[in-house]
Amino acid sequence: MSSELVQLQPNDEHNQKLEANVHPPQWTNPTPSRPYHLVVIGGGTAGLVTAAGAAGLGARVALVERELMGGDCLNVGCVPSKGIISAARVAVGAKDASEFGIDVPEVYVDFAAVMQRMRKLRAGISHNDSASRFRDLGVDVFFGQASFLDSNTIEVGGSELRFKRAVIASGARAAAPPIAGLNDIEYLTNESVFSLTELPRRLGIIGAGPIGCEMAQSFAQLGSEVFLVESEHGIMPREDREAAEIVQKEMVRNGVKLLCCGRNLVIKNEGGIRLTVESHGKSYDEPVDQLLVAVGRAPNVEDLNLEAVGVDFDKKGVKVNDNLQTTNPRIYAAGDVCSKYQFTHAADFMARIVIQNALFAVGPFGKKKASDLVIPWATYTSPEIAHVGMYENEAEEAGIEVDTYVQHFSDIDRAILEGQDDGFVKVHTKKGTDQIIGATIVAENAGDMISEITVAMTGGLGLGKIGSAIHPYPTQAEAIRKLGDQFSRTKLTPLSKKILGLLQRLNVGS
Ligand SMILES: Cc1cc2nc3c(=O)[nH]c(=O)nc-3n(C[C@H](O)[C@H](O)[C@H](O)COP(=O)(O)OP(=O)(O)OC[C@H]3O[C@@H](n4cnc5c(N)ncnc54)[C@H](O)[C@@H]3O)c2cc1C
Repeated sequence: MSSELVQLQPNDEHNQKLEANVHPPQWTNPTPSRPYHLVVIGGGTAGLVTAAGAAGLGARVALVERELMGGDCLNVGCVPSKGIISAARVAVGAKDASEFGIDVPEVYVDFAAVMQRMRKLRAGISHNDSASRFRDLGVDVFFGQASFLDSNTIEVGGSELRFKRAVIASGARAAAPPIAGLNDIEYLTNESVFSLTELPRRLGIIGAGPIGCEMAQSFAQLGSEVFLVESEHGIMPREDREAAEIVQKEMVRNGVKLLCCGRNLVIKNEGGIRLTVESHGKSYDEPVDQLLVAVGRAPNVEDLNLEAVGVDFDKKGVKVNDNLQTTNPRIYAAGDVCSKYQFTHAADFMARIVIQNALFAVGPFGKKKASDLVIPWATYTSPEIAHVGMYENEAEEAGIEVDTYVQHFSDIDRAILEGQDDGFVKVHTKKGTDQIIGATIVAENAGDMISEITVAMTGGLGLGKIGSAIHPYPTQAEAIRKLGDQFSRTKLTPLSKKILGLLQRLNVGS
């Protein structure tokens, strides 16, 4: 029955394998046992990590999923998007090969094969999130819509699951904002775009946030003519402006037509889709084959009967305290449904907090706090943008004075040799100290590189310590080490210079 879902189209061998793992058609829900220590609603990252972790520590756990285990990340988010991005990077690498003295006569993109490869890899990965794996871990897996009956009971498909603690990990979904004419057409969201088998010749994308930018650049690299509409100026409005501008320049080079500061956006259904918008004083009226809406997310809070159990929520999601406890003390929440940090790794670490707080903390003792998490994030454009901690404006608003250190990749040998010298590492430290309070990296592998700074922040290591750690030459990560040198040079005061001079004279004369 679930193979009718758009997420599982086309119904080929790879999607059948995916379905067999994440929503087996023949699955029979178990008979609920004694009250569960923990019932988890939602089988995305937050729910899976909670269920596996709690069961592994000896708790009796039930997990309820209404569609596909793995949630957004595996099925319609991180995994398929990065599968497409990897193919698009190969395409653009082949197109740019002549810059390296390599002659690639003609680059032909077989989009159907690109998508088939993605589906094959996604199905291969899906075993980790499979119903059978979780059953083998000792979790009772139920498929169906979960809804609270009272503060002790959740109902799913006619079964009543009694619980001591419950976790809402129901995630979020695409929810288009009101756009004139949008409801007159069939448009794509992240739930349907990965089911395409034909490359749209002309693709409209609304929203230049992370998802919109990743998809706009990839589809342009694969050969679509892409019109990216954004209501604010430029792309990725939340990011460091210098960082976003570097990515924007590359996206435009890849052929993306950025229609930013978009006004009077109207979608028309005139035998096909027409995108009309004003951008920077010019009017556009573009026929497109497909339109992807990549703005707007809504928490999955409906249908849970939260009112019956006194769990407060609003349009941003379920309200939780710093211990991820809802307004009903027996019920916790984790992941996209309750957080502004809508990332898989954030959902994962919130789940760990929930396990600890729901099952092992005694009163206030042993409670973990979400605010202690140092959460990095990355957008996987080319180059990537990765960030951790505060932006400069956030520090300013919080009244924290900062020193800012920047190392451009144009001075990093490896980046030059790779043809990837457009980018930088920027680190903000608390004024006068080497305590890192935030960092942004723009680099081809910024998502990997940001972890060094995240580790430093988590472990309380300053920029000076990073500078004293040997980094292999030649690597792009040397840029981070060089920032350590920049910091050390600021410690060279006239007095310390005088002392060094004196010591030198004592040792080797003048
Ligand atoms: C296109 C795209 C690309 C992304 N790329 C990245 C990336 O590169 N890196 C990254 O870190 N993050 C990325 N994300 C974000 C990431 O996918 C989410 O942050 C992550 O999936 C959140 O996990 P979750 O468990 O909170 O929610 P979800 O993954 O949404 O899982 C919630 C689950 O709950 C189920 N559910 C909901 N209500 C009920 C109910 N009443 N009963 C039973 N089940 C229910 C849903 O069916 C769903 O399976 C991306 C997202 C998108 C859309």
